[in-house]
Order: sequence, then C-alpha cells, then structure tokens
Amino acid sequence: MSEVILILGASGQIGNELTEKLREVYGNNQVIASDIRTGNSMMMNAGPFEIIDATDKDTILKMIKKYHVTQVYLLAAMLSATAEQYPEKAWSLNMNSLLAVLDLAKEKHIKQVYWPSSIAVFGPTTPKEKTPQKTIMEPSTVYGISKLSGEFWCNYYHEKYGVDVRSLRYPGIISWKTKPGGGTTDYAVDIYFKAIESGHYNCFLSKETRLPMMYMNDAVEATIQLMQAKPSDIKIRTAYNLASMDFSPEEIASEIKKHIPGFTITYSPDFRQKIADSWPSSIDDTAAKKDWNWQPKYTLQSMTETMLKNIKKGERSL
Ligand code: NAD
Repeated sequence: MSEVILILGASGQIGNELTEKLREVYGNNQVIASDIRTGNSMMMNAGPFEIIDATDKDTILKMIKKYHVTQVYLLAAMLSATAEQYPEKAWSLNMNSLLAVLDLAKEKHIKQVYWPSSIAVFGPTTPKEKTPQKTIMEPSTVYGISKLSGEFWCNYYHEKYGVDVRSLRYPGIISWKTKPGGGTTDYAVDIYFKAIESGHYNCFLSKETRLPMMYMNDAVEATIQLMQAKPSDIKIRTAYNLASMDFSPEEIASEIKKHIPGFTITYSPDFRQKIADSWPSSIDDTAAKKDWNWQPKYTLQSMTETMLKNIKKGERSL
C-alpha cells in the first residue's frame, strides 16, 4: 500500500521543502500539508493543505481518518532562540504535539512517525568536538530540554508500545526558500541575504563560534532516507546524530568573500551567543552512516555557491 503522509508544521523552514520533496516522491495528493498559518502558495496549491493545530489530537485524528493517513511528520515546534523568550509556551507546544502524535500511533491510527530532534539536546558539559552519539547530555535551554525529553518519549513509545517513530538530531539547517523560524543558527541563512542586499552583515554570534550545520537538501534527503529504511536497520529510537559541515561566522564570511569580494562582517554577540556556546562544534554521525548509509553531499563551498546563485535570482518564496 502506498503511504499517505500528514505534515504538521509544513509552512516552516524545513516543512516547506520537505513537503515539496515528499510530493515528488509519493505524489502530490498523497502528502497533506498542514500548519496553524498559511504557507507559500506553491506548497499550498500543489496538494492538499489544512489548518491544524499540532497539539489538537482530535483534529489530527479527524484528518488522519479523512485522508487515510499512514505516516505523520511532526515539524511544529518553537525553536531555540524564541523558546528562551517564551519557555512555558515552548514546552507546551513541543511536548504536547509530540505526545498527541505518539498516542495516535500507539492507538494504531498511523503506522509511522517522524519527529526531529536537534543538537540542542547537548549542553555545556558535552564533549564539543565530534560529539558522540552517546555522551553527557545536560542541555541548558528550554528548547534543548524539550528535545531531550522528546527523544526519550519516542524511545519509550517504541519500547513499550512498538511505535515506529524515527528521529534525527538536526544541526543548523541552511536554506534560501523559506525564512528560518527563530533558531540560534539563523545567522548562517541571513548572512547570505545581507551579503547580496547590502554587502554587509552584523553577526549576532562571535567570529570564532563554530557550530554544526547542514544544507537543506541534505537534511531533506536524510529524513526521507531514514523514514524509508527497514525497521530492523533503525537501531536508535531516541534520535540519530547527523552531520555534514561545521564552520564559524568568520569562515562562512571568507567563503562569501570569494564570490562578493567587497563583503564585510561585524560582530555584536547577543543572548544567542550563550546558547551557541553550550552546543557542540562538530558531530560524530558514524551510527547514521553505518545503520542506514547516510552520506551528506554539500560542503561549505558548494552550499555557498548554491545559496548565492538562488538568492540572486530572487526566488525566495516568502
Ligand atoms: P519553523 O519555525 O520554521 O517552522 C515551524 C512551523 O510550525 C511554523 O510554520 C509554525 O507556524 C508551525 N507551528 C507553530 N505552532 C504550531 C501549532 N500549534 N500547530 C501547527 N503548527 C505550528 O521550524 P523549522 O526550522 O522548520 O523546524 C522544524 C523542526 O525541525 C522543529 O521540530 C525544529 O525543532 C527542528 N529543527 C530545526 C532546525 C533548523 O535549523 N531549522 C535545527 C534542528 C531541529
């Protein structure tokens, strides 16, 4: 039987592009996009779109029945920087949406669940370089606490109720189609836009702050690859470490200068510096490579070329 996929939080940075790719793979009408707000017109017009609150279990169930949904991708969440401003709201959205979807899977209304975790599960006491899959995890942000708790809820539902839930610890995701949603790694998107618009960027992180990052196409590929893997290949039911590249603001700036020689950058670290300082600078994703053959394609060089080319074309949709 072919899959019918419901995406919760489809109007966001990752949802928009994941919806597009999943529709390419499974067919436009097999992928139901949803969010509490409208998204870009291409995503909304290419296939079904519904307004759904990801914490509203009854409405999600109604939609599962309406479309005969087999898989739910839960992307609705409050991200790291915004969550520090609204801790209670962040906890409530990030946890209640996950528990609603896990319960629907436990009750056998759906067969499979995808829910992303983040490198924010790690904290200041975690080894920073090549952070291992299993290591000290003492997150210091509300977002990180919600993701770490979420991972263990996923594992619990898998162990106790046999729920087929899969997860990745995304690094900072870089893309040009949809604006990022309030994370600490957003600078690595904004910098490309400002480089083209004004030739200057004032960065909210210090120049040497190294963080793990990934181009959107790799993140989307990894997600679909993980969801299509045989259940027996998925050995980790908390969430897989996932890596591609890591760099500092200084390094991305010098890469941009190769294309825009007059580009300048200044640094004015704000509250996000503390969040970034608590995260790893690089990630060891050996388990993902071994269990389901994960392999990233983009480097800082090829991503920079692609980002600048597409932004110059003015193709951003939001
Ligand atoms: P985003 O903020 O761009 O999008 C989230 C979407 O969720 C938004 O469209 C928002 O309208 C929607 N939403 C908010 N509350 C909702 C609700 N109650 N019901 C339904 N929808 C709701 O975030 P994103 O960057 O696309 O992230 C998607 C997932 O990936 C999140 O779980 C996030 O934690 C995770 N993640 C993202 C990154 C990144 O760099 N973008 C890194 C690590 C993990």
